[in-house]
Amino acid sequence: MDEDFDIIVVGAGFGGSVAAKLCADAELKTLMLERSENVGDKVISGLTIPFQGFLFAPTFIRDGNPPFERPADGIVNYIIKDIDKGDIEIDDSLKVPKPLSPIIAFGYNTYCKPFCQWQARKAVEAGVELRTSTTVTNFIKEGEFIKGIITDKGEKIRAKIVINA
Ligand SMILES: Cc1cc2nc3c(=O)[nH]c(=O)nc-3n(C[C@H](O)[C@H](O)[C@H](O)COP(=O)(O)OP(=O)(O)OC[C@H]3O[C@@H](n4cnc5c(N)ncnc54)[C@H](O)[C@@H]3O)c2cc1C
Repeated sequence: MDEDFDIIVVGAGFGGSVAAKLCADAELKTLMLERSENVGDKVISGLTIPFQGFLFAPTFIRDGNPPFERPADGIVNYIIKDIDKGDIEIDDSLKVPKPLSPIIAFGYNTYCKPFCQWQARKAVEAGVELRTSTTVTNFIKEGEFIKGIITDKGEKIRAKIVINA
């Protein structure tokens, strides 16, 4: 059955959930599709968010008490030159000033999965419909325009705008 949305967001990663929430806040009927079973399953690594990330990020992130692990007090890059020979260069030249206190820091470390899940929850609370285990395999194209998406289950879902995140 064909469905209609104002916005379809493909991918519930860092970018997708923010885009979807802002669209729902603007009272747009928004669908977010994520290929993994659980939001964040496909997003790797940890994440350091520098303080300017909060200054310029959407206010709901700054004000919403997202799940952080700890304030950042340094960055070490391990540059793998030849993994078989164990040839790894360590670069710790990027110094981050020590936090002034546990809550006043120059950046915060978090794990990607809980952070993505927190963001997606905020999007759903704002009215976004989230469907996981759904991979977008193609777009519905009419002339030069994208008019929706096609999923791995063969569903055709139409929208005024598709955000490929
Ligand atoms: C090792 C590593 C370390 C990093 N460290 C930092 C850091 O310290 N600080 C920082 O700011 N950034 C960091 N980044 C960058 C940051 O992770 C990315 O900029 C961010 O994840 C990009 O967000 P995104 O929403 O564009 O994509 P992603 O977060 O990758 O999200 C894409 C989502 O779309 C889904 N998806 C993909 N294809 C489809 C499809 N066809 N249908 C449905 N769903 C689909 C995926 O499953 C995924 O959930 C790091 C990245 C890596 C790889």
